[in-house]
Amino acid sequence: MTRIEQGSYDAIVIGAGFSGLYALIKLREMGLTATLLEAAPSIGGTWYWNRYPGARVDVESVDYSYSFSEDLQQEWSWSERYAGQEEILDYLHHVATRFGLTPDIHLGQRVTTLRYVDNEDRWQIVTADATVRHGRYCVMSTGFLSAPLAPVFDGLDSFTGMILKSTEWPDRADFSGQSVGIVGTGSTGVQMLPHIASAAATTYVFQRTPAYTVPLRNKLQLKSFEEDVKRDYTLWRLRQRQAPTGAIAVGSAAAPASAADSALSVSDAERMAIYEQCWENGGIVSFYLSFPDLMADAAANQTLSEFIRNKIRRRVHDPAVAERLIPDYPVMSKRLCADTGYFEAFNLHHVHLVDIADDGLQFDGPGVFVGSDHYDIDILVLATGFDAITGAMKRIHITGRGGQSLASHWEHEVRTAGGLMSSGFPNMFWINGPGSSAADAAPPLMAEDQMAVVGRIIVAADSAGVVADPPMVMEKEWLDECGATMSATLLPKAKSWYNGANVPGKVATGMIYLGGPVRYLELLNQFADRLIDGIEESGTEVRERNQLWAD
Ligand code: NAP
Repeated sequence: MTRIEQGSYDAIVIGAGFSGLYALIKLREMGLTATLLEAAPSIGGTWYWNRYPGARVDVESVDYSYSFSEDLQQEWSWSERYAGQEEILDYLHHVATRFGLTPDIHLGQRVTTLRYVDNEDRWQIVTADATVRHGRYCVMSTGFLSAPLAPVFDGLDSFTGMILKSTEWPDRADFSGQSVGIVGTGSTGVQMLPHIASAAATTYVFQRTPAYTVPLRNKLQLKSFEEDVKRDYTLWRLRQRQAPTGAIAVGSAAAPASAADSALSVSDAERMAIYEQCWENGGIVSFYLSFPDLMADAAANQTLSEFIRNKIRRRVHDPAVAERLIPDYPVMSKRLCADTGYFEAFNLHHVHLVDIADDGLQFDGPGVFVGSDHYDIDILVLATGFDAITGAMKRIHITGRGGQSLASHWEHEVRTAGGLMSSGFPNMFWINGPGSSAADAAPPLMAEDQMAVVGRIIVAADSAGVVADPPMVMEKEWLDECGATMSATLLPKAKSWYNGANVPGKVATGMIYLGGPVRYLELLNQFADRLIDGIEESGTEVRERNQLWAD
């Protein structure tokens, strides 16, 4: 294919989700020439692709939004407590228009290759249509839940029905009168089941692992609450940034402080009252903020695990079905889900739970087999999750200094410096990406905070006339940091996207920082200070050397 040369920029941003749009705003604000490349035909990132029925955010809308512009905060109104996928897209389109981003966004541009050109100190970016662009800086905003995980089931090619993927949902899907099989009972499957079940003639839920899920209790946004937040959004954002979850809205109010240091330090009655209050508030944030040791201490965790198990027993009428829907691993060792009628769907006569943990799914023509049992399905829905955090970057062939590939750099562990860069990949940054605490933060705010650090590094590198490339020792330190935070939690007790165990053979050491967004940003800024010191020193060396040659 003939390559088309397209231009050279100070910075190239990849991905037009929350992170990428803000990265573009920030880079332009810094006076840099920047362009954004997006594979999809429209902006939105994961919110563009994941438009399955029931898709909505699981932290409150007032928290899941940008803070960088007071005007934007004041003028935008969310219609629901938890915005639906369409409204989130509307918001992102509004941002793109309001800040004049559209001319700098190139849609339908899937980046296939990123090559650092050593003797030019810049990145060469090639897209699937063989267009070549160059940028001195490269900001990867490729998303941490964006690379779909497509399981390979035996004989799937022979399936004669329709296959729908939650991550590539069509404009229209009609379930009426159909027999539907859903695979996947994580946040996505939990959100879509009630919608699909309300239309389909028969629904089978093929469950490998049951989910802990709590009622979302979505409602129309209360005007009075919106006004309260907007009265001092700056303070709200400050409190949000100080929270271990990156979100503080619970039940259309600000969350109270944690009730105690430990779930075990209060009486049973007090603890139950707090859990009941969280249950009534709706959503997951209340639970995450209730006691700080729920994700770390097995006995504390057991109190909440049992609380939710008992709720499942009450929500599902058939006790035998309820027992099969009850998880046996610690709550929050996978991300807690929030639902609107998930368990109640199993009380409908046409919704059937099928366990596939032992036999998996086999296809041979129409329908599907689980062991020797055959299920007649017209539509197979895959809600099977993501190759999270590193997956999107692995889909691009990235080579750094000396032609070293990022894949080989990350062969044994995900080596990052501060969850922002890797050694040998100069001037490349990722936002809400590997090694960061994106999974515990509000991604729009984390994008702003990480981009502030990126901005400092770019200013330092440009004024020193050198590239930013962290030394390997910083990666070693960060690996230790990430490892220590992971082993201090109960997350290794379950197979999930957090620890990479949902993808067979995946290398995930160092992939995620679990010390919380507050500590993460402290450490990230310390990392940046050291990197900038190094940049300034090498800038001085370069200037002195040039001076010597000039003399
Ligand atoms: P997920 O949590 O990873 O769940 C994937 C589901 O697919 C699991 O039940 C998994 O079973 C099942 N699965 C995967 N491969 C399978 C196979 N080969 N055979 C049978 N079952 C298989 O993915 P997700 O539901 O898309 O959610 C991912 C994350 O995205 C969430 O944790 C959340 O952070 C975010 N999200 C948020 C919302 C929201 O509420 N705003 C909505 C959707 C997603 P196992 O558990 O046995 O692996």
